[in-house]
Formats: sequence, C-alpha cells, structure tokens
Amino acid sequence: AKWVYTFGDGRAEGSSAMRDLLGGKGADLAEMANLGLPVPPGFTITTDVCTYFYENQKRFPSELAADVEASLAHIGKLTGKTFGDEEAPLLVSVRSGARASMPGMMDTVLNLGLNDVTVRALAKSAGDERFAFDSYRRFIQMYSNVVLGIGHHHFEDALESYKEAKGVSLDTELRAEDWQKLVVAFKATVEEESGKPFPQSPQEQLWGAIAAVFGSWLTPRAIIYRRIHGIPSDWGTAVNVQAMVFGNMGPTSATGVAFTRNPSTGAKELYGEFLINAQGEDVVSGIRTPQNITETARLAAGSGKPSMETAMPIVFAEFVRTTELLERHYRDMQDMEFTVENGKLWMLQTRSGKRTSLAALRIAVDMTCEGLISKEEAINRIDPASLDQLLHPAISPHALRNVIAAGLPASPGAASGEIVFSADEAEQLRNMGRKVVLVRIETCPDDIHGMHAAEGILTTRGGMTSHAAVVARGMGKPCVTGAATIRVDYAKATMSAAGVVLRKGDMLTIDGATGQVIQGSIRMSRPELTGEFAILMKWADEARRMEVRANAETPQDARAARKFGAEGIGLCRTEHMFFEGDRLTAVREMILADDPRGRRAALDKLLPMQRSDFIELFGIMAGLPVTIRLLDPPLHEFLPHAPQEIEQLAVALGLSSEKILRRLSELKEVNPMLGFRGSRLTIAYPEITEMQARAIFEAAVEVKHRTGALVRPEIMAPLIIAKHEFDLVKARVDAIAKAVETESGQTIPYTVGTMIETPRACLRAGEIAATAEFFSFGTNDLTQTCLALSRDDAGSFLGPYVSSGILAADPFVTIDREGVGELVAIAAQRSRATRPEIKLGICGEHGGDPASIEFCEKLALDYVSCSPFRVPIARLAAAQAAI
Ligand code: ADP
Ligand code: MG
Ligand code: MG
Repeated sequence: AKWVYTFGDGRAEGSSAMRDLLGGKGADLAEMANLGLPVPPGFTITTDVCTYFYENQKRFPSELAADVEASLAHIGKLTGKTFGDEEAPLLVSVRSGARASMPGMMDTVLNLGLNDVTVRALAKSAGDERFAFDSYRRFIQMYSNVVLGIGHHHFEDALESYKEAKGVSLDTELRAEDWQKLVVAFKATVEEESGKPFPQSPQEQLWGAIAAVFGSWLTPRAIIYRRIHGIPSDWGTAVNVQAMVFGNMGPTSATGVAFTRNPSTGAKELYGEFLINAQGEDVVSGIRTPQNITETARLAAGSGKPSMETAMPIVFAEFVRTTELLERHYRDMQDMEFTVENGKLWMLQTRSGKRTSLAALRIAVDMTCEGLISKEEAINRIDPASLDQLLHPAISPHALRNVIAAGLPASPGAASGEIVFSADEAEQLRNMGRKVVLVRIETCPDDIHGMHAAEGILTTRGGMTSHAAVVARGMGKPCVTGAATIRVDYAKATMSAAGVVLRKGDMLTIDGATGQVIQGSIRMSRPELTGEFAILMKWADEARRMEVRANAETPQDARAARKFGAEGIGLCRTEHMFFEGDRLTAVREMILADDPRGRRAALDKLLPMQRSDFIELFGIMAGLPVTIRLLDPPLHEFLPHAPQEIEQLAVALGLSSEKILRRLSELKEVNPMLGFRGSRLTIAYPEITEMQARAIFEAAVEVKHRTGALVRPEIMAPLIIAKHEFDLVKARVDAIAKAVETESGQTIPYTVGTMIETPRACLRAGEIAATAEFFSFGTNDLTQTCLALSRDDAGSFLGPYVSSGILAADPFVTIDREGVGELVAIAAQRSRATRPEIKLGICGEHGGDPASIEFCEKLALDYVSCSPFRVPIARLAAAQAAI
C-alpha cells in the first residue's frame, strides 16, 4: 500500500480529489503545489494509516518508517537541508488534517527538529540568535503540550516570572540570552513534569509528533466537535509533515490568515489579518491584536497599525493574485493561511471558508452572477437549516440601548442572556433551560461545549479570525470579539466597562452585526427577507416540483406564511380557534350539555365565531388552497382542572361544580393519544362537524361575495382507520354543503379528504381513496402509532436509541424512512392505484425538515406543509431534492 504522498516544487502525488485519503489540508496542499503556487515541500501520511493505527494497538504499518525517511530525503533535496543534520538541519511542522475541516480541533507542532545543537545552526544560517532560541522555546512548549501532555501554563508561568524578575513586560523586550535561559528553564520543566529529559533526537521527536496527531483524533474536544458537526468518527485524520518557513524572522517576515470574501457579510473583498514577525497560531490565538491585510479594511477599522498592503506592497500584490487564482480554481470562497519569510510568500493552507448564512447567500448569488457557478450549484450550496439564522431576531434599529462597549462584529445576529464566565457554567445553565451569554477574555477549543450552549459569545481579545469568531460563525451564533475596553475578572465573576460593573447572572445583550455590547436585555425584531435571500428563493421556486404550504390557523400565522412564500395552508387546526376569548366558554357549554339539543344550542353560539375566523383566514389566503381539519383533540382538553376554575365555570354556566367534575371523570382517559378523539368525535357527536362545515361554507360564500376570491376549502377528517368511518364524516359534510348551497344560491367547490395517521389507514389506503379526494400524512401521530412511542414521554429513553444506531435519527425530527416511511409509501402507492389524481401531502413536523422533504420528493408527494417560519427552509430543501 502507498502510505505517503509528497508535494512541493510545482508538483504533487496527490490532488484535491483525494480528500478521503489525504484529508482536506493534505489534498489542498497538493492541489496548490500542482497549481505552481509557493508551498513549502512536504508529505502527507494518509488517513488509511490512522485507521491502521487504531486497528493495530496504535502501531504503524511496517513499511511506513522507510516511506517517511524517503519522503524526508525528498524534502531535503528540495530545500537543500537534511533532517537531523547538525550543519543545515531541515525543520518541519507536523500538522493534522481531517477530511472535513475541524479548525483548531487537532494539534499541530511547529519547528520540529530543533535541539541543543541544531538551534545553533538555525541561528547561524538566519544570522539571528534571538529568532533561533525563540523558535526553540516555542517548539519545546508546543511539543511538550501536544506530545507529552504538559500544560501550557507551566511554560507561561516560567516566562512570566522570568519577565517579572527582569523587570520587563513584553516578549519583544526579551533578547537572545533571555530566550536561551528560558530554553534551559523550559527543559527543566519538562524533565520535572515528565520525569525524562526533553527528547533531543529529531527522529524521536518526529515519531512522537506523528503518533500524537493520530492520537488527537480521540481527544474529548475533537469528539465533541465531531458530534456537533455530524462528522463520522471512523473517518480518521491524515498527518502532514512540511518544511518550516518562518514568519518570525524579523520585520520582513509575517504570518496571517485571509478569506477571499468577507465571511460575515459575504461582500467581495479580500478580508484578513496578519502579524509582522510572528509565527503560526499567534494570529488566531488572540495573544496580540492583529493588523489588517488591505488598506481599505484598515481605514474602515480606524486602525493605527499599517496594513499588509502598505507594509509589504510587493508580497501583498503576489498574495492578492494568489487568492484570486485559488478562488477561481475552487469556485468557492477560500480561507487561507500564509507566511512571509524574509519577503517571500508561502502558502500554508487553503480550504472552503466557513461563513455565516447571510454570507453564504450573498456569495452563492454573487458567484452565480459572476458566472462562476450555476443556479443549481448556488441552490445546493445553501444549507436549508441555516436559513433559520436569518429568520431569527435582530435588534430593531430604533430600540433604545445602553451600550457599554464595542468590539468587532464577528458573527451576526443579536443575543441576550445571563452572563457566565466559563464554558461549564454555560452548559449547566443551558441544561436548566436558561439563556446565557458566554463572556471570555478569549476562547480556546476546550470551550466548545460552552459556546454551543450559549446564545452568544463575547470576548475581550482577538480579531475577526480568532477562535471565538471562527467557531461562532460555524455554529451560526452571534459573536462579538476584541471588546478591549471590557475588564473581565474571572475570580470575582464580574465584567466592567464604561463605569458599569456587571456580575455573573446579570442580563447582557450582544449585537454581532454591529459589535455593540449592551447592558440588559433588549427588544428584537425579525429581519426583512429581501436582496440575495429573495433572489435565491426565486431560483429555488423555479427548481422545485413540490408545493410548499404552511400549518396555520391564526391570522398572524397565515400572514407570516404568505410573507414567507407559502402557497396555501396545509393544516388549519380548528381547535386552536376554540381557545380564544368567549369561544372557550361556549365550547365548554357544548361539552357539558346532556343531549344533542343542548349541544346544538351551544354550537349555535360557536357558529358565528368560527365563521368569522374562517372569513378572516380565507380573506388573507385570497383564493389559495386551505386545508381545514375538523375538531381533533379529546374533549377533556377544553375543560378546566383547577378547583377554582371549575368553580368559576359552574357559576358562568349556571351548573353545579359536581356536574362538571362528573363530566370530567367521564371524559378522563388513561391514554388520550389513543383515545376519544379525531373522527371518533364526529361519529359520536355529528352536530360538531355539522357546525364546523357550516362555518366553513358560509365563510366561503361570504368571502366570495365580498372580495370575489374563489375559496376552495379542503375539509379533512382526522385520525381515520376505515373507509366506512370516513364516509360517515364525508356524508355529514356533503349534506351541509348542499344545504348552504340551497340557502345561498352559491356553489362552493370543495374537497373532502383525510389525514393519514394510523398504520391501518395506510394499509387500507386503496379503499379509503375511493371516496377521499386527498390524503395529508399526519406524520407526528403516524410516528407515534407506528412506533408505539408517545412524543411526550419518549424523551427519557429515545436518546440511546439514536446514539446507538437502533434508529437513524430522532423519528419526531426526521421521518423514520424504514418504518413510517414505508407506511407512507404503501399508502401513496395503493391510493394512487384507486385514484391516480389523488392529492398527497405531508403536514407533520417533518414537512419542514430537509431530510424528510427529500424523502417526500422521492415518493413524488404533491406538497409539504410546515410551520410558517420553516416555509423558506422547505422551499429550498424541496428545490435541492428536485435537482
Ligand atoms: P490548524 O488545522 O489548527 O489550522 P495548522 O496545521 O494549519 O493547524 O497549523 C497552524 C498554523 O501553523 C498554520 O496556520 C501556520 O501558520 C503554522 N504552520 C504550519 N505549518 C507550518 C510550516 N511548515 N511553516 C510555517 N508555519 C507553519
Ligand atoms: Mg490551519
Ligand atoms: Mg439532490
């Protein structure tokens, strides 16, 4: 087997097509080398080795040692250096690189190959002792941390006390002799902590680092990251070994990160940060505040430090050309890492950049207009679920706010919550159902669970490409970074700024769009859906086949549904209308009536109210289809249970409380989900259905009369198990339709169909479709009845069913294709055999879930219906399913 692939000097054995084998970083390093870009030479040890490593008690394939040696020799030839040589030592970095990018999750070791002898050779060749010993101490620190498991604080403490003893405050004030002494101190620390001297053999260092990178695949933070982002754990990581280039060689050297477009807004502008005389992680770690790359960005930020454009104009020009080439080549926004060594540019990484959903939309639309990608590609590039972010709150522009500090707008959206200062606290409070804003000086990969738990993240250090910013954008969380005027005191659990002291638990708001940090919580509003959002949605509408409707019954929801582009109402739950104002009293009167006459009297009171509900709803929907479900829930849900309320109701209806209590106990059910509900109510109390049908038809007549809009109600019988049952309901509806037609002289076109919610209805679909004109799959109840699971109780035991793979996903979120899905498929097939033109749709929660929508497209359903705020998600997901 080939375990190792080399790259460098304008060619490579691998390419970007080999991500699975080489990992993302290795594949793209190879691709950049093939493109002739300046990439320090190196080689990639494949993900197959990682798999081998874990399958063979953490041992390597026997051929690997020789392959690595040959590849090192190859790098040596290209650089004119030799690994382990005492005169011209080759130094390397050992970098992890998984298939899917996991920024900052896995560990990297720089300057490997340095020891007490080679550090002198480095000093000599660079003509700079300070640089050489600074590199050596960085290496000792990184290696000890990553490979030997010695905490960074040991070294930071040593550095701090050294500086204190010397009376200096900045690292830059330390000279060569100082770093030399610190190297001695660092090595002593290593020996103390690990019981062994710091390894001097470059070979030992190399294999230690390679094993550590493979080992880091199973660190807790890597495992959590994969869980959050759904990356399979059996993918493994590759290891990249690459010749070092140095950004810390003095004022003509630098290191930085950049994006070809703004990852926050999507604007087409080179966007990034760099630091002169720095190495590796300095930019992202937030230790020093970085400088802007372009002059425009510097001016916009009002920064006093020179941009790369003015500080290094020649390298800058080459860098700009390189970034443009990469974006054109990959046809996507790139996130790049680079280093300048003595005025020479080196590219160290490129990958598709993480971006906010706002930026994703803008970039997809812009790139389509630039002719870089097709409309279909643009549609496929947007994760439908991410649209949720855009539909969520922002601070309304006119809201009064008490701004106490301003930082960088690192990830848009606004968030309010209680202040917490640690990731663990964030998680604890979140688990108790509280909303928190995580406030940190800076974040590190170990904080990932807390960032996930928080509504938003605030840091006082770091730039737009700091760890906090990158991770927050990936999660779609609001984030403000580098709010430098805030003082955080972890020990006292306080933060202070502008004379205000806030404590843990106080409310705080951050605005990731402006960078504002605001005391207290604040009113938020939902953004308008215009610009790129509207354009992409239009393209999606052109591409999709299925209709998208909304589940709505209130005028508000119906208006929102239309605003979000719903093409009708797929589920109007009439019982929701019964809970409003005086309606509830009339409903209760009806339930408490002793006979049909009493019920009719109460229903007569309800009729005008229900009719006016429908008039309003039909008016808003202006001729679009509206599917109305007849009364569904068990009647006891409408009755009061608290003694005081029962008393009040008794007085209002002139009944005794005893009577109410008696009726309550008659209606009480052990398992209401399987109880006296759905069309069973119609069979027992047909007068309820008659009232509802009359309200619907009279409203339709009224709206037609008033506005001319032709309303086509689709009346839906819930929870059917047999054709005969359905026919009884339908007969009632038809009779009322006739009556209203005679009374009004108007013909209202309507259909009667059923909600398919029981396995029996799916199996008998062929017969039911003989009289039912449409089916709407109520997949919430169908999931409950198919899996014998109650949605209300399943939470306590469903977790392990999903994590252990018994079920592929939470069946209440994503349709269980193998079980529920099979029933739906059977019902679709049998009903179409009887009635080829039958209209089929889905109206459970699944109607707004992209994976379930894809399944609906497979079955060629006619529409999906979901909650109004998920309508845009469903439109996009339906388009992706159709492409
Ligand atoms: P991550 O996946 O966490 O970004 P990387 O492997 O990209 O880790 O390494 C982090 C940083 O280390 C890089 O951005 C780069 O600045 C620096 N680095 C890595 N390899 C080299 C190298 N061969 N020469 C100089 N700097 C390097
Ligand atoms: Mg990197
Ligand atoms: Mg597709």
